[in-house]
Amino acid sequence: MADGIPVTMPTPEIPAQLAGANTLALPCEASALLTFGDDDALLDALVWCEKAQLRPLVLGEGSNVVLPETLRRAVLRSADQSVTVLEDRADGVQLRVGAGKNWHALVTECLAAGWYGLENLALIPGSMGAAPVQNIGAYGVELATFVAAVHGVDLSCNARQTLTPEDCAFAYRHSVFKAALNGRFIISAVDLCLSRKPETNVTYAALGERLARLQQAPTPAAVYRAVVGLRRERLPDPATEPNAGSFFKNPVLTARQAAALKSEHQGLPVYPAGQDQAKVAAAWLIEACGFKGVQRGPVGVAEEHALVLVNHGGAQRDVLALAGEISAAVRDRFGCELEIEPVVYRGE
Ligand code: FAD
Ligand code: NAP
Repeated sequence: MADGIPVTMPTPEIPAQLAGANTLALPCEASALLTFGDDDALLDALVWCEKAQLRPLVLGEGSNVVLPETLRRAVLRSADQSVTVLEDRADGVQLRVGAGKNWHALVTECLAAGWYGLENLALIPGSMGAAPVQNIGAYGVELATFVAAVHGVDLSCNARQTLTPEDCAFAYRHSVFKAALNGRFIISAVDLCLSRKPETNVTYAALGERLARLQQAPTPAAVYRAVVGLRRERLPDPATEPNAGSFFKNPVLTARQAAALKSEHQGLPVYPAGQDQAKVAAAWLIEACGFKGVQRGPVGVAEEHALVLVNHGGAQRDVLALAGEISAAVRDRFGCELEIEPVVYRGE
């Protein structure tokens, strides 16, 4: 499965139009765009950025960013789609996956190879390199479970580094790459441990119910198909309705605050989230404030899903204005703060 890796850094694109490179289809002109194939090319690209006096910004497939109309930075993108087997044991494999590998393609290829674990994360848009940044998760499974190491370059010293899972400080939709290493570390490859045992996780109610309805045993292939089916039904496709997935995180409250809120609003879905903490469903809060399906000029809230903002020709300011309106309404009605999930970039 190893694909070829280009070793030289191609000529930068100056400037670069990124409207087609982010799933919200926001218009964005970046000062430059450089593609790197391996760590040497990445280091070359960083030297180029220094000479051009442009701060580097690494992007994958642009499915979790809110880009400005003008971005005075050099955007770097990995072209490394390699998948290399580092260790092959009777019970599992360890893989090294290039940052530029499309996530869903990886999940599909792993399932076909009999390397299990990633099925619940099928159809999440984006690249391998971005997956550790927010510790992608869905249907009761998180990437962190499979990560053995993260390789890349630390921009504070332009040196190669390998991080352990502990270094990555993975948490719910969070990691060190959104905290101490925010904007400071470019991931070039990720090592993943997968199992050869066809065990599955169907603890997530919607998934278990779908398999039961289809009368399917919870094999990895059945879970994969169920997740793909659920996602296609529930989520607008960025190709026709440009969006960045869930625009807000589910607020995590103290168990006491969540219980108080639930006693006032009986239908509110509340889930345990670690010791003395509980997660409340942001989509429910937004829908209860009447935003599902609303339009504000060129932007709106998806008909299918209250957590998803959709863009039809607007720019960053339009999306953020609607997000601000939603947050204010949820704060006024429920006293809950909504935090934006995608990464919002300003001009520099
Ligand atoms: P980008 O959007 O390009 O980048 C996101 C952030 O990661 C940026 O800050 C960027 O600088 C950083 N980054 C990118 N590449 C690297 C790198 N190589 N090294 C260091 N930093 C990097 N997310 C979930 O967790 N679960 C879901 O179920 C889910 N569903 C989604 C559904 C839809 C329809 C959409 C549009 C999005 C969804 N997302 C979901 C969000 C998104 O798919 C993930 O966050 C994904 O990992 C982003 O990948 P990307 O390559 O597009 O990253
Ligand atoms: P859903 O089934 O309508 O559930 C709504 C929310 O309740 C989810 O956000 C989920 O939290 C939470 N939830 C449901 N069952 C749970 C359980 N058994 N334990 C803990 N939490 C539970 O969700 P959905 O919107 O259709 O999304 C399905 C899955 O895909 C979710 O895992 C969601 O995170 C993921 N997804 C993520 C994005 C994104 O951009 N981040 C976009 C689309 C879908 P969690 O979100 O913590 O799972």
